[in-house]
Order: sequence, then structure tokens, then C-alpha cells
Amino acid sequence: MNDPRIRHVVIVGGGTAGWMTAALLSQALGSQVQIRLVESSEIGIVGVGEATIPQIRHVSKFLGIDEDELLKASRGTIKLAVQFNDWRRIGDTYLHAFSDVGLPLGLAGFQHYWLRDLQERTSDASAGAASRRGNSVPDLWAYSINAQAANLNRFARMDKVGDSPLTGIRYAYHFDAARFGQLLRRHAEQRGVVRTEGKVVDVALREIDGFIESIRLESGETVAGDLFIDCSGFRGLLIEGALKTGYDSWQHWLPCDRAVVIASEHGDTIRPYTQASAQKAGWQWRIPLQHLDSNGHVYCSRHVSDDEATATLLSHLEGPALDEPRQLRFHTGMRKNVWNRNCIAMGLASGFIEPLESTSIHLMQSAVGRLLTMFPDKNFDPSLVAEYNRQTRFEYERTRDFIALHYHATERDDTEFWRQCATMELPEGLAHRIELFRQSGHVFRDGEELFTPMGWLQVMIGQGIQPVRYHPLADGLSQVQLDGFLTDIRTLVERAVATMPEHAEFIARHFKADS
Ligand code: FAD
Repeated sequence: MNDPRIRHVVIVGGGTAGWMTAALLSQALGSQVQIRLVESSEIGIVGVGEATIPQIRHVSKFLGIDEDELLKASRGTIKLAVQFNDWRRIGDTYLHAFSDVGLPLGLAGFQHYWLRDLQERTSDASAGAASRRGNSVPDLWAYSINAQAANLNRFARMDKVGDSPLTGIRYAYHFDAARFGQLLRRHAEQRGVVRTEGKVVDVALREIDGFIESIRLESGETVAGDLFIDCSGFRGLLIEGALKTGYDSWQHWLPCDRAVVIASEHGDTIRPYTQASAQKAGWQWRIPLQHLDSNGHVYCSRHVSDDEATATLLSHLEGPALDEPRQLRFHTGMRKNVWNRNCIAMGLASGFIEPLESTSIHLMQSAVGRLLTMFPDKNFDPSLVAEYNRQTRFEYERTRDFIALHYHATERDDTEFWRQCATMELPEGLAHRIELFRQSGHVFRDGEELFTPMGWLQVMIGQGIQPVRYHPLADGLSQVQLDGFLTDIRTLVERAVATMPEHAEFIARHFKADS
């Protein structure tokens, strides 16, 4: 009887997606499968992708890589939040911080208590009454330990806030993606992954069912396999080039299609957060690594020329440029099916939402986890494939909606780009979420979607969506009780942050890179 087990996995591509897939699969599957990775150094990698989200820490844990070692090897820093500048209005700033905000009481989320306090203080002030509670309204971020630490450029690993029920710091990394990729490569090769240098020039499909049989390299060598993982980047060499799977464009919701990137010397501080500053037709990131800042201007080519975009980028650097501007093009969207026959696309080959909120590395990590959970045999059961595709699409679409929210919920009308974003027709689910929040202050997690209610809450408030009502349970506290509840949280957060060292000091103590 033919053995149905998958024995040979072929990965095409050695960017972050290729080596992440190779490292995680080899760690999980051991010698049950032989993994071969084919990459062409002549073609090269995209090589940006320095910012991550907290789930990245599961990768190092799963692979058994010490976090300090990882950050030292990749010249990494800590990321507590993303700071959004000029998104709602020019001059406005808010954070999307990774930690919890406040503490829910009973069945009502924290925001309902904060909203009651805000509404009472605001109506006191507008009635001209001197509020007993003082005139300044503590903003939502006064209740977030990550936000307060970020504001003061501080960091410490802290799972809990003292003995209180408040959860502690939740963090991700900024790192040099190429060095991170090398680390993954070493790990994968130590676990038996075989790397082949070479350019894939042809893909042979089985006549009977169109499954991929083998790939042919420029050298003439043929590499056969049972399962092919396409990590070939935007070109999608197997999933699109060979299998013609099709691509759903999301440009009508996520209109940016180019980026220009450059490294620069640091300013005075190494901030423990990414900065994302809106520009006339897009936005610019600043990501602090230990030895430099990574900068990129993401823009919509229908509204701004490449030259103008580059000039904007260069005029917003904090220190002198360290290399030449590099241009990248992309098309937001995803493959109609990321798993087609015996081929699964990962990383940019599967789709690209866009760099805002830095989700790409996470989506590949999550995709490998899903593949391991649903690891097939040579029958490639169609229901398994369909379920994998369904879950992936759900994750991508909910993430897309979260990013689209940033563009849409704006009061900016200074350029045609922002006017179009503000008036665009939204995906149905997103329109519902915004309306629900505006009317009732409610924000719920949709199934296993990536971003938490805490993330949605901060972005909606930060972008100026102000609920008109809050949960009736928040009126269950007397005013004295409400003041006490809110003041206690703010005090606990402030005290905890005061014990933390400066971010730069923490790096020097724990994972300073050699060069
Ligand atoms: P690539 O890096 O393009 O690698 C493709 C691989 O395929 C290469 O090894 C290449 O040699 C190989 N290949 C291609 N064709 C052939 C062939 N014919 N034969 C052999 N080999 C071949 N993600 C984040 O998580 N955070 C961020 O902050 C972030 N910022 C980004 C900013 C921009 C402007 C862009 C465009 C992306 C950003 N991303 C970010 C996404 C991130 O860059 C990618 O997810 C990451 O680089 C993975 O890319 P990849 O491995 O899929 O593809």
C-alpha cells in the first residue's frame, strides 16, 4: 500500500517567510519530514519588516531561543506601542499600546466606567460648574501601563502590576529582519533543513490533477516534493505563476501601493515604540533599532509622485541618512485561496495588507501554526484545505478591517487622499463595529481575530469616534466609588512605571549588540 504520509516538503524562498516556516516546521516535525528550502540570492529578499506585535515572543519560546540572545543578534529594541501622529487631525497624537487598559468591573468593560467619568466631567465643565474632581480629564491612556511607560521611554519586564489584578507590560520587538532571518536559518539548518541556492525557472504540474510535481532550477536540477510552500514573495511563483490561483485586491480600502525606505542615525532617544505619522497621501514610519532608525514612507501613487514621496521621507528623518532611498511596490489584498492543491502560500506570496500595525510577520507565524494543526497527508482532503483557507481569510479580512479603520476614521480633509479615505465605502463588518461603538461604547472580539478589543478601543477613541452611551452597569457605582476605582488604577500604573529603568539602560544591561 502506498504510504500516504508527507515525507518531502519543499519551501521556495528564503526571506523571513521561508526561514520562519522552515524553522517552525523542523522544530515541530523533527525527522518525520525532510525539508528543503530553495532560494536565490540573486533575486534577494524584500528585507524590511522591523516591527512586530507581541505574538512574536511565542516564536522564540517555541524554538527555544533566549529572548536576550535574539534581541542582541538582531540589534533589537522593545516595542510597547505604535504612536499615531496626525491621523485624526494634524497635530493629534495617540498610542495603540499593547497592554490592557484599566480593568473591567463585572460584566462591563473598563471603557464604560471611563466614558461615564468623561461624560460627567465634560458636562460639569460645559455647565460652568467647578468640578469637584478637578478640571482635567484623565485620558484613556492614563490607565495603560504600556502607554505610560512609552511616554516616559521606560521599560521593564513586568507580568503584573504589583499585587493588583492589573495585567502588566505586553511587548513586541523591533529588529533587523535580515538578522532575524539568519537566526531562523541557523536554527532550521541545525534541525536538518537543507538549503539549495538556485533560481526556480520552471514548475512541473501533474497531468492528472494539476498538483505540483517538481520545480526545476536554472542549474538543471529538479526538486520533487509532496507539499510545496510558496514563500517566493510578491511574485507568488508557485501559487500564482504555476497554479493561477487569483488575487483579491483591497486597494479600494487600503489605497497605498508604494513605499520608499531609508536608514538614518538615531535622534537623542531610543523610543520603545514605533512612530507612524500620517502624511499628505500615506504615512511614514520610524522604527528604532539599537544602531539606527529604520524609516519608510508608505504612499498612494495616484496622489503623490515618487520624487515627492522621497522628499517627504528625507525631510522627516531625525538624523543623517545612512544609505540611499529604496523604492518598493505592492498591491494590498490576498490570494483567493492561500492553499491550492499541494501548494500553500506564506508571507508576501499569500497576500499583503500593508505595513501599518506591522502584521505581516505575525500572519506568517500564525499560518505555520495553522498548517501544523491541520497537517495533511498526500490525499490533501478538500475539506481540510477549505477549512485552512476559511480560517486564513477570516484572519486576513479582520486584520484588513482594523487597518482600514485608521484611514477611514479621520477628520482630515486637507488632501484628496484623506477626503477619499473618509468617504470610502467600508467592508460591512467594519461599518457595523464603528456604529456599535459610537452608539453604545461596546467593542467585542470577533472569533479568533488578531486584534483585541483593547486595540480596537484605542484606535477608535484615538481616531475620534466618541460613544454617545455607555453600559448602564457603570452607573452602579456611586461617584465616590467611581473616583476611587479610577484613581487607584492610575496610581498603581504610575507607581509601577516609576520603578522601570530607561529603555536604553535596559538594552545596555540585557541585550546590547556587539556592533
Ligand atoms: P521576500 O522577502 O520577498 O522573499 C522572497 C524569497 O523568494 C527570496 O528569498 C527570493 O530569493 C526567493 N525567490 C523569489 N523568486 C525565486 C525564484 N525564481 N527562485 C528561487 N528563489 C526565489 N512586516 C512586518 O511584520 N513588520 C513590518 O514592519 C513590515 N514592514 C514592511 C514594510 C514594507 C514597505 C513592506 C513591503 C513589507 C513590510 N513587512 C513588514 C512585510 C515583510 O517585509 C515581509 O512579510 C517579509 O519580508 C517576508 O517576505 P517574504 O519572505 O514573504 O518575501
